[in-house]
Amino acid sequence: MAEMNEQPTVTMSRRELIKGLAAGSVVAFAAPSLSGCTTNEALGRQQLLLVSDEQLAQLAAQSWNDALRKNRQSSDPALRRRVERVGDRIVVAADRRFPQQNLAQQNWEFAVFEDDTVNAWVMPGGKVGFHTGLLDIMENNDQVATVMGHEAGHVVGRHAAERYSQQMAAAGGLAIANAALAAGDVENRAMIAGILGAGVTFGVILPYSRKHEYEADRLGADFMVGADYRAVEAVRFWDTMTKRSGQRPLEFMSTHPSDQNRISAMQSYISDQGYV
Ligand SMILES: [Zn+2]
Repeated sequence: MAEMNEQPTVTMSRRELIKGLAAGSVVAFAAPSLSGCTTNEALGRQQLLLVSDEQLAQLAAQSWNDALRKNRQSSDPALRRRVERVGDRIVVAADRRFPQQNLAQQNWEFAVFEDDTVNAWVMPGGKVGFHTGLLDIMENNDQVATVMGHEAGHVVGRHAAERYSQQMAAAGGLAIANAALAAGDVENRAMIAGILGAGVTFGVILPYSRKHEYEADRLGADFMVGADYRAVEAVRFWDTMTKRSGQRPLEFMSTHPSDQNRISAMQSYISDQGYV
């Protein structure tokens, strides 16, 4: 295992959690959904998870269906097949690496949206959306695999669940978040979809933290190599994106923040792992 690039963790402390419990704000969120701190083997660290995979998958399924219904999908079968093939290979590789996560049992879906913005996103349960604007500037399948691996890394890292849990903690009351989950009004749905990563439907998407980006990069490189793609293309791809984002803002860069440090970290990781 290579050295982890530790970033400062933003998690709710045990004391804060207990304070919330004492204030009664956690009551509505009683077990079985309150899972608390668990260790994620793929990350080698603990996570505060206050939502179950089932809850999140259910929410994501709604947002995913909205996305499919409200946005135009590419009518180019070759392009769709290309993304699906890369996606399938990445999932097989991820499943082989972390069999305990039952990744192959999830209902992975890959969609290509007819949209000029340079973007791609993922929702829990393995729902991955690519925009044609991003595919247009990709030079090869290794670069498609770069983004696919990275997005799968967010899923394996349970980053959406962690982010949702952190938001709940920050909001100061789980009851609020629970109400948001239950309510069907547009504002809450947009907020939840943003946390889940469904930017295409609601126009709201939260950037991942640097810590999550580093983790998704490392896992993405592992999956790429496991699926016989060239990890060096990941460095090339992010380098190009970072340079482009200096000229005009790219959606993809605002939701997956990158800079030279991150690219250097990726470079070191793939050489430490012997991927190049
Ligand atoms: Zn990311």
